[in-house]
Amino acid sequence: MRARDLNRFLEDMGWRSSPVAQPSALVSPVALEAVGDDSLAALASSAADCTLCRLSEKRHKVVFGEGDPSAAVMFIGEGPGAEEDRTGRPFVGQAGQLLERMLFAIGLRRDQVYITNIVKCRPPGNRDPREDEVAPCAPYLDQQIELIAPTVLVALGKPASHRLTGTTKPISALRGRWTTYKGIPLMPVFHPAYLLRNDIAKRETWEDLKKIKQRLDSA
Ligand code: URA
Repeated sequence: MRARDLNRFLEDMGWRSSPVAQPSALVSPVALEAVGDDSLAALASSAADCTLCRLSEKRHKVVFGEGDPSAAVMFIGEGPGAEEDRTGRPFVGQAGQLLERMLFAIGLRRDQVYITNIVKCRPPGNRDPREDEVAPCAPYLDQQIELIAPTVLVALGKPASHRLTGTTKPISALRGRWTTYKGIPLMPVFHPAYLLRNDIAKRETWEDLKKIKQRLDSA
């Protein structure tokens, strides 16, 4: 990797200033209910009443997903945290701010992609979602993917990567390698929350992000 590229990535991710500062260029104009077209909106409203698993019991808001309904790239995390549960929006905490910097590093704004999770309600204490929570939620994700029909899927972190690759290999073995989900190219990468505390993984993720950019540029 060229040092200049790495520097730009780290700067764009705010490493030389405050990791939580939000460059104004990244402030998302996406509104809270920006679920896109009618079909996505209909799906979101059916998810809003979902009681298919125990996560519905303690949630404040269903975090369906948001972004461009025709996005070329869809980012899929594991599940809402406290801030997401409060606001109803995915990736709005510290990990979300880093995700925005990762997007910025490959020339994308938050409103140009679609962001969601494998479960739409917050697992208590931010634990990983369990199989009997992920499985009933999967049809929502699959329909989102079908409606948005992105060119590329990006799985953020272990639970999303395991779900979408159908394996339980370590994320360190999955990241940076193209595979497919339902025929769509899929790239697992480290979760932004992990990157917040791991510099080596940041360098590796920059390599993965460049592969994603190349794929999008050549599509
Ligand atoms: N982490 C996730 O995986 N998803 C979110 O929406 C927020 C944090």
